[in-house]
Amino acid sequence: MSEKYDVIIGLEVHIQSLTNSKMFCSCDARYFQKEQNTLVCPVCMGLPGALPVPNKRAIELCILLGLATGCDIESEIRFDRKHYFYPDLPKGYQISQYDQPICSDGEITIRDKEGENKVIEIERIHQEEDVAKSTHHTDVNGEYTLVDYNKSGVALIEIVSKPVINSAAEAKEYCAKLRQITRYLGVSDADMEKGQMRCEPNISVQEKGRWEYKDEKILPIGDYKLNPKVEIKNIGSISAVEKSIEYEVSRIIDDLEAGREIKQQTRGWDPEKGETIFQRSKESAEDYRYFPDPDIPIIEVTQSDIERISEQLTELPDIKVARYITEYGLSEYDAGVLTSERKTAEFFEDLVNQLEDKNMVKDAVNWLTGHIFALSKAKGIAVYELGMNVQDLASLISASSKKEININKAREILTESIEKSVDLNHLLNENLGSIVSDVESLTEVAQKVLGDNQQAVEDYKAGKESVIMYLVGQVMKETKGNAQPEVAKNILIELLQ
Ligand code: ZN
Ligand code: MN
Repeated sequence: MSEKYDVIIGLEVHIQSLTNSKMFCSCDARYFQKEQNTLVCPVCMGLPGALPVPNKRAIELCILLGLATGCDIESEIRFDRKHYFYPDLPKGYQISQYDQPICSDGEITIRDKEGENKVIEIERIHQEEDVAKSTHHTDVNGEYTLVDYNKSGVALIEIVSKPVINSAAEAKEYCAKLRQITRYLGVSDADMEKGQMRCEPNISVQEKGRWEYKDEKILPIGDYKLNPKVEIKNIGSISAVEKSIEYEVSRIIDDLEAGREIKQQTRGWDPEKGETIFQRSKESAEDYRYFPDPDIPIIEVTQSDIERISEQLTELPDIKVARYITEYGLSEYDAGVLTSERKTAEFFEDLVNQLEDKNMVKDAVNWLTGHIFALSKAKGIAVYELGMNVQDLASLISASSKKEININKAREILTESIEKSVDLNHLLNENLGSIVSDVESLTEVAQKVLGDNQQAVEDYKAGKESVIMYLVGQVMKETKGNAQPEVAKNILIELLQ
């Protein structure tokens, strides 16, 4: 970022848990595109006398994420009230956790900009509830705000990192990795466009060599005065995490260089303008008047609970990548691409298990990352949603690997089977017999092609060797794509000589 300054970033991330019902009541938690204020009850409306009942599945998911990130799991779960006043918070407080989060001291490994592994320590993962949604309007009635309580009380997990992230790129990596892990585990869909994951970095810029990270605190060295933190609220996309931090860091450095005082403050991100906007200044830490929620009894987490939840742990992306590299000999890049989503990885593994020969794995990878990814991209859906039968696909790839079918023909029939929902195996069987690879019949075709293309023949003899590919193309045309191009090429060269 700069020769003179260090960037110090801590991240708070909120993700919505993948539960059917809300955190403390039985209202439906799947509020997306539902009519406003239809998924509500006295508990999530904050009506007097209503009693919260904790969602067991939500707590399991929180523990599952903690286990996957190497956290210590608390054996007694307590909930606290966090007070603040806002129209989208009907009770006047949010049920959250204060000094005893369910999970603490975990880590997530990312790649830094040198491509080296970097461990980002997680301070805590705690369980809380979401607030309602306010929308602001201006019309003939003047200015007013409407509140939709469908989202009020939806289970929310907050993940707080230690301030050990040192660039916008690292922050982006961390958020992407966290999202990937929560999706792998089924803890959350973490769809940022639907607001299911929100990132809030706090950033400070300090002079190099004048501060240290000690006892988990940023401390000044000597008479250095630390610059205060700036927080960016509610970032709704992974790319905006990087862009907003880059913007903010250069804004702070400009102020420092100009000798302007840096004030502790909260800012928002305007994705259209690509800039952060001042929201409010923070003179001191906010006083939320936390106290234990007297309505919710302490929940014991036993060893057998932990064992039961551990059974839901799945092979996580880092482990998968390492295994693909050693077990299948994949490049790190290919392994990363194939494990980006759990279902894609599972599709790949199913496919590998169906191949005739383990030596065909490399071909299968090329098929997936090449032609099949292109098809899925064109359709805007995932590979596993293309409707391919894994066994039939394995037969096609095997046939192509054994050169029983021309690769272009094989691609063509795969596309056809997807586009027209035709049985792939049927198409493969139809085309298997038609391959023209015997030298005798191909020689006949090649002779005809040479006869028809005198100019090309002369060009070739005059030293323009690239013309051979044109001639191979003509052979492919004559055989309706059923020749093996390399065989055809060899025959053509032999005839030409
Ligand atoms: Zn409710
Ligand atoms: Mn929170």
